Amino acid sequence: MTGVLTVGHMLGDTVMDILVRYHRMLGDSTLWVPGLDHAGLATQVEVRRRLQKQGVRFDDLPREQAIHEVELWKQEHEKRIREQTRAGGFSVDWSRYRYTMDRESVRATREVFVRLYRDGLVYRGERMVNWDPRLRTAISDLEVVHTEEEASLVYLRYPWADGAPGGLEVATVRPETIFGDVAVAVHPDDERYRSLLGREVVVPLTQRRVPIISDAAIDPAFGAGALKVTPRHDLVDYEVFLRHPDLPMPPDILDATAHLVGEWVPSEYRGLDRDVARTKVLEALERSGFLLRQMPYRHSVARSERSEAVIEPRLSTQWFVRMRPLATPVIDAVRRGEIRIHPARWEKTFFTWMEGIQDWCISRQVLWGHPVPVSRCRACRHEVVSVEPPTVCDQCGSTDLEPDPDVLDTWFTSWLWPFMVLGWPDPTADLAHYYPTNVLVTGRDIMFFWVARMMMSGYYFRDARPFSDVYFTGMIRDEQGRRMSKHLGNSPDPLDHIRERGADALRFALVFPNPTDEDGPFGASALDGGRNFLTKVWNLVRFSLSFVPPGTPPPSGPPTLSATTALENRWVLSRYHRAVEEVDRAIAEFRFTMAAGTLYDFLWHDLADRYVEIAKESLLGRRGETARREASATLLFVVERSLRLLHPFVPHVTEELWHALPHPDSLLASAPWPRPQEALSDPAAELEMEPVLETVRLLRNLRAEEKVPVDTTPKAWVRPSGPEVARVLSNERETVERLARVSSLVLLGEGDELPNGTGRRVAAFGECFLERPVASGATAEALLREREKLSGLLEKTRARLADPGFRGHAPPDVVREAEEKAAELAERVRRIDEHLKQDGSSSAVP
Ligand SMILES: [Zn+2]
Repeated sequence: MTGVLTVGHMLGDTVMDILVRYHRMLGDSTLWVPGLDHAGLATQVEVRRRLQKQGVRFDDLPREQAIHEVELWKQEHEKRIREQTRAGGFSVDWSRYRYTMDRESVRATREVFVRLYRDGLVYRGERMVNWDPRLRTAISDLEVVHTEEEASLVYLRYPWADGAPGGLEVATVRPETIFGDVAVAVHPDDERYRSLLGREVVVPLTQRRVPIISDAAIDPAFGAGALKVTPRHDLVDYEVFLRHPDLPMPPDILDATAHLVGEWVPSEYRGLDRDVARTKVLEALERSGFLLRQMPYRHSVARSERSEAVIEPRLSTQWFVRMRPLATPVIDAVRRGEIRIHPARWEKTFFTWMEGIQDWCISRQVLWGHPVPVSRCRACRHEVVSVEPPTVCDQCGSTDLEPDPDVLDTWFTSWLWPFMVLGWPDPTADLAHYYPTNVLVTGRDIMFFWVARMMMSGYYFRDARPFSDVYFTGMIRDEQGRRMSKHLGNSPDPLDHIRERGADALRFALVFPNPTDEDGPFGASALDGGRNFLTKVWNLVRFSLSFVPPGTPPPSGPPTLSATTALENRWVLSRYHRAVEEVDRAIAEFRFTMAAGTLYDFLWHDLADRYVEIAKESLLGRRGETARREASATLLFVVERSLRLLHPFVPHVTEELWHALPHPDSLLASAPWPRPQEALSDPAAELEMEPVLETVRLLRNLRAEEKVPVDTTPKAWVRPSGPEVARVLSNERETVERLARVSSLVLLGEGDELPNGTGRRVAAFGECFLERPVASGATAEALLREREKLSGLLEKTRARLADPGFRGHAPPDVVREAEEKAAELAERVRRIDEHLKQDGSSSAVP
């Protein structure tokens, strides 16, 4: 609920809907649970930003009002998201709609916390966390973004504690944190410092003495090889500190908002923001002679993904989940193929993260979220952890309980989704029937946040995989290949696309032609492609309808084929059978774009362009009643079944068209999915049709090339490569003549002479010749007029190029353009001359 659905969400939803509709038509029991995630921290950031624009500080609001503002935000976005989901035609089960803050989710979340706590997998501990000082909360490693940034490396002199002249050179990028130092550390093998170990230096600007210690974590090549140790504000330093038990634990020198605090900080710097403090401290260091030099330094800076604030590593008390015991069964399950990842190339990333998994910090210091289900007894300090909010201490019976002030990370609820939405922890019928689920479709950007964690909770709480397959969609990019973002303004509301071109055009464009599992361009041209395809399908069905007399019953099966069945009918049924097989296979392999491509090619090219054109004569009754009946039955069957095949991809258009055809009295959405019918497979018909289609294609190309006027029907010849091709072309002569618009198709024998004055093409099935148009009469006159015009232009262009003034002064690309134009004009004149020269006998076949 951070925002509304983007085109990227629509891609994931379309893929899910294809799967759900496909399986529903197959007769499987399908369930798609829609829901909303409260997106704790992320939502709070958005609400805060919105209020800021109205001049209201979220942090100043009383708790009740702050929650109210978030609720308002939720209602607006939920309404919009539901509207978008409906507009997309996604067949979710609205009756099972869930929200990660609803009553059932509250119970499941608390239940899980309590179980993990009792099993020793949830603990509270002081750990180094990523602290966002702008949002004043700990955030997880996954919410931190690392970027290379320019900084300054400061070399300082830490004077000797015994008053000897000089001092130790220490390099740091954070001079404002020197007040938290407890030591200076060097590498144990660093010869330069070996004799200095144990000696003391004084922290500049203070009177505090700290020892020089050695630790293998120190990089001797960084700065001068000596590093200050600030355990509360740096992870490496904290680890060094843990290895040196003699060092004292200092107080915090930075508060939750990254302002300097505490008795170790000299009073003049207390209360200053860390950036302001850095400047002031540097000035003071320079004045006092502790600043040796500063060097430009490029290093990796950690920033909060949500607020962009520089992360402050901070030692703080938080709740953690021990992940190693949860991760191990999941790694094993994926390794033995119990859960499959598609595309498989993401497995490596998955294993790398899972194998190096760290404990999960689940507490957040924000308002919006599930409270940590823990209370502390003020009387005996006992921790009361229970599913129902407690009223008395189970240790001493006191009612003076103090609830934990933190809330839980949103993913601590979302990771329960696959069983929580089915009623867990109750043993519901839904849970028994639908768990384990089958497929999870999502973006790979939440592979660790969500996918991996759902697997862990599934095995831990249900002792079974949450799903058998995970499918990662690609990331949608704009037509220039840029990531879509609000900032760039290239991330349109999908509802606008739906209004302009229809939900089905959007759905189809998301699936085809760019593969759904690859990052790819999306924009107007993809949408136009989707819409054009749907227009083609629409026209195909409307055309087919004109051959279906009223009262025709719905096709119960394919037409019965006889020995005399026309080649095109056998061919289109065989192609249809092959399309069913290919779509089934592609969906089983999670190759949605391939499935859509198969349907696109079959409907557009085979059915609409080829079959309909070839069968038109029969459909119009020009080949007799039997041929008419066979053709119309074939067309009706293939069109009706094709709409079923297309339905999961474009449900609206197909449902509408299906009802216009004779159909059983129900919804296409619940009509049975067509099964491949081996009896329709006819490889011989497909093989025979090939030379027919290829001859038509080549003759059409020759027509275009030879500039044959539209209303002219020249002669054509084919020299077939063998008797089989000769037989087929002889049978299908009428079809070729009609489709290629030639007056006659002559089949040449082995010894026959080649026709003169023709254009020629060679193909696998033989050679093709087309009569060239004779330049005579009106045609010749027109050609002459055009020649005159073109040669005039050519002369002008040549004269321009010959002018040394033009060549010397015009920009190179203008000159090049003129040269290209001259060459093109010369070629056009040459072609006209060739046509004019021709009289049918003067030019031979090359
Ligand atoms: Zn107590």
